[in-house]
Amino acid sequence: MLQNPVIYRKGTSQRYQTPRLLKRNTETAMIRIYNTLTKTKEEFQPVRQGKVGMYLCGPTVYKPSHIGHMVGPVIFDTIKRYLTYCGYDVTFVINITDVDDKLIAESNLRKIPMSDVAEEMTADYMRNLDAMGVLENINHFPKATEYMPHIIEFTQSLIDKGIAYASDGDVYFDVTKFRDYGKLSHRSLEQMLGEGGLTAEQKRSPCDFALWKAAKPGEPAWDSPWGKGRPGWHIECSVMSGCLLGETFDIHGGGLDLVFPHHENEIAQSEARYDKPMAKYWMHNGLMQASNEVGKVGGRNTHEAQSGDFESQEAGKISKSKGAGAFREMLKRFAPENIRFFLLSSHYRRPIDFSEERIRQVGTGLETFYRFFKRYARITGENFHDIPPAAVRKEGDLISSGGDPLLQQAAELRAKYLETMDDDFNTGGAVGILFDLLRLLNKFADEQKLEENAETLQISTLKQGAGILRELSATLGMFLKPPQTVSGNEELVQKLMGLLVELRLAARKSKDFATADKIRNDLATLGITLEDRPGGTEWSMK
Ligand SMILES: [Zn+2]
Repeated sequence: MLQNPVIYRKGTSQRYQTPRLLKRNTETAMIRIYNTLTKTKEEFQPVRQGKVGMYLCGPTVYKPSHIGHMVGPVIFDTIKRYLTYCGYDVTFVINITDVDDKLIAESNLRKIPMSDVAEEMTADYMRNLDAMGVLENINHFPKATEYMPHIIEFTQSLIDKGIAYASDGDVYFDVTKFRDYGKLSHRSLEQMLGEGGLTAEQKRSPCDFALWKAAKPGEPAWDSPWGKGRPGWHIECSVMSGCLLGETFDIHGGGLDLVFPHHENEIAQSEARYDKPMAKYWMHNGLMQASNEVGKVGGRNTHEAQSGDFESQEAGKISKSKGAGAFREMLKRFAPENIRFFLLSSHYRRPIDFSEERIRQVGTGLETFYRFFKRYARITGENFHDIPPAAVRKEGDLISSGGDPLLQQAAELRAKYLETMDDDFNTGGAVGILFDLLRLLNKFADEQKLEENAETLQISTLKQGAGILRELSATLGMFLKPPQTVSGNEELVQKLMGLLVELRLAARKSKDFATADKIRNDLATLGITLEDRPGGTEWSMK
């Protein structure tokens, strides 16, 4: 087993120095992050040395997750993995919005309490994050309903400062009292006021937004100094990020559609209260949009488009109403690693063109790695997945023992990979370099005919090269475990089940309940359960 797959050179006179830890990256490499606030790439300097606080706006849990809900978590999970590899201690928070108009509507529709809807959909979200390898990396999942006393206290403090006002049981933030309003979305208040917007009689200005909403009869409500009600959406993020990460933290993330009004309002709330910056770096991932297939995934707002970049992405967004199905169903057709690789194959700030065909193409690329892992096992008698990935990044020039050309080229690719990831976490570029490295290793095995007759030195060289592949791919959260592919058989099962569900539905429509029941009961004896849900029939296997 390889402990240190590479050898580092301190100076030319110490060419064959044994592996050793040189300076940690936090002192040497420079990571640059594109900050929406300044519209530039800035050098990453955390608030507290060696530590990073990262907050990502999570889902409103009223429907099962779709692939759009996985984009942010996979991207920011990768950013955490990379920062951790670079020596930082990262605290990663994703919030859960478990009280909201959509949740109330769903609870009324299904005639079950709002908390039951939230619980069911949160569990679905967690299972999906787990499948994607993200769950283990998230430190806190705060829920809005668990922070009611903090939310009320925060709102009261803004009233006390004269920045918010109560009106008819609602509480509004007065945007004219916060000088920097519009700094994230780069719009002036005059411009926004000129555009008009929703006018409510209780508001002083159309741009004021709700911190607290009075409850209508029958709605879930909490006691407050302003009467029974519930929080607005934006306030929970200001409260929970402050409680868990501090008044100023490092990275605030979210989809591009959250820049305005959600993040603009978070900034207004937090900075008006604490008189200090809320977050140093505001990072926004591109939205997933329909490619040639109908539909869009992601997004939670129905507000108007704000910028050219955003508009173009918003127009093509995929949504449940346009056909993007539950993510757990997608997991029956695609291995999680295939989906993860697909999400990381482009730059996080670009829109992701969604189509199942594209995921399949990415899966074909993934197969070339899996074939190499088998080849590696045949040649070395060891498993690629048993190579321990480097826990912490090491700097320095990498050379091979004996100046092997393979390892010199692999070292160059490694340096290029790190440079690419240091440049605003360009995972798309990094994936391309992994393919270059894979080609290099395969070429070496071909040319040296390693499967026929490999010498110890050649095997050792291959192992060192594969060690670099292991080290780098782990920073993307890739190839951590042996592949779990969806086999051809499983695809067939999927199609056959679709057929049976269709036949049962047809039988029920023609009132042939005996046949419909037989299908359900016979499947049950095989351990397959059918569940009729509002969106159609779903099946699961024990
Ligand atoms: Zn938020």
